[in-house]
Amino acid sequence: MDNIRIVETIRQVDPTIANLCAAEDSRQADGIRLIPSENYVSPAVRAALASNFTNKYGEGYPGKRYYQGQRNTDALENEVRRRACEIFGYPHANVQALSGAPANLAVYAAFMKPFSGRIMAMRLDHGGHLTHGSPVSVTGQWFEISHYGCDEHDVLDMDQIRRQAREFKPDILVCGYTAYPRSIDFQAFGSIAQEVGAISLADISHIAGLVAGGAHPSPWPHMDVVTFTTHKTLRGPRAAIILSKDPQHADKIDKALFPGLQGGPHFNTIAAVGVALAEASTEGFKSWAHQVVANARALAAALAERGFHVSSGGTDNHLLLVDTRKSRGLPGKRVAIALEQVGIFLNFNTIPNASPLQKPLFPDGIRLGPPAVTTRGMNESQMPRIAELMDRALENVKRGRIEKGTGIWADPSARKALRAEVQAFASEFPTFAGFPENP
Ligand SMILES: *Cc1c(COP(=O)(O)O)cnc(C)c1O
Repeated sequence: MDNIRIVETIRQVDPTIANLCAAEDSRQADGIRLIPSENYVSPAVRAALASNFTNKYGEGYPGKRYYQGQRNTDALENEVRRRACEIFGYPHANVQALSGAPANLAVYAAFMKPFSGRIMAMRLDHGGHLTHGSPVSVTGQWFEISHYGCDEHDVLDMDQIRRQAREFKPDILVCGYTAYPRSIDFQAFGSIAQEVGAISLADISHIAGLVAGGAHPSPWPHMDVVTFTTHKTLRGPRAAIILSKDPQHADKIDKALFPGLQGGPHFNTIAAVGVALAEASTEGFKSWAHQVVANARALAAALAERGFHVSSGGTDNHLLLVDTRKSRGLPGKRVAIALEQVGIFLNFNTIPNASPLQKPLFPDGIRLGPPAVTTRGMNESQMPRIAELMDRALENVKRGRIEKGTGIWADPSARKALRAEVQAFASEFPTFAGFPENP
């Protein structure tokens, strides 16, 4: 169903929610969305989310459910598992995780007891995820954590990580990040884990679509367990998948997720994951994934040309980090708020090796990437235009003062003009351009 039909169907029952849906459709169409964990799903994925599978309960796994009436749900879940295994090359897949955080928690619960397990993972302010042992997450409260970080060039130092792992002896060694712009050396992580007797876990939530499309090296066969969200570069609904190599690991993970952690699976979401996986196995998706990386490189180059400090000097994947304090004297939050006011959406983010002023909620930079705009059909030739719009906005904001009521723009009329330019530019691109081969 298209956006308008969805909104009108809702409106017959609930005008309030319908209006919010319509407003969100406009926001997503009128702006330039650069949050690298977001995307636009296909109409087929949205339709599967709205399917009647939402009406069905089915605690358990195919062939072993606690409810009757599973003929179609069993077939569905088996088919989606099979597709996940085929695309990522792993022999076992669990497709029931409701999202990325519970998927990671299930893996920890499968292999460790609370208050005795040890996790080694990337620190949050260098690009790790909250569920990789942050003190505000139960993963950091229930397990002993040793965090590694980037070196002075903002990249991982595998020799240092190996030394740290030998010393700490983790039960689980985690790689895979939420804000790291470089390729991950899964072979090195796998060999370190093997050497110290740890389970190796690759959390490829951000890059799953790039891996599926062949635009990032695969964790297979190096990593024991792989988790990923299906809603970022994989272009599916909000959910997660857990892959594993060893049948005994798979069994532990299945039990940890259900009945350990979750109740009934969300079959409508699983159906939509299946549709996304079908899309991800097409040639068109592969072209899209490679175009995302090409666009990220072009955007990094265009920003660097304008004097922006790009962390680690560029990107190998779908995202980049920019130290806006170093580049323009502007902390990331001010940049993110100002750009939202002209319809450019990205997020403030910590930068490795930032100034001493940086704090998690007051970081020195921003994180951005082109997955969503690539889905709209943009290519390298549009990236300099995005960099230009950002630069012009920040030039104005840099001269502005933060005062109550007056905002942060030196010249508020320039803000209005830029907003109109962003809207005109965005409106040249549909929110879903199809896949490159079959638009
Ligand atoms: C997004 C993300 C998660 C969490 O996913 P949610 O669906 O938000 O729970 C976990 N790990 C990494 C690396 C992520 O990028």
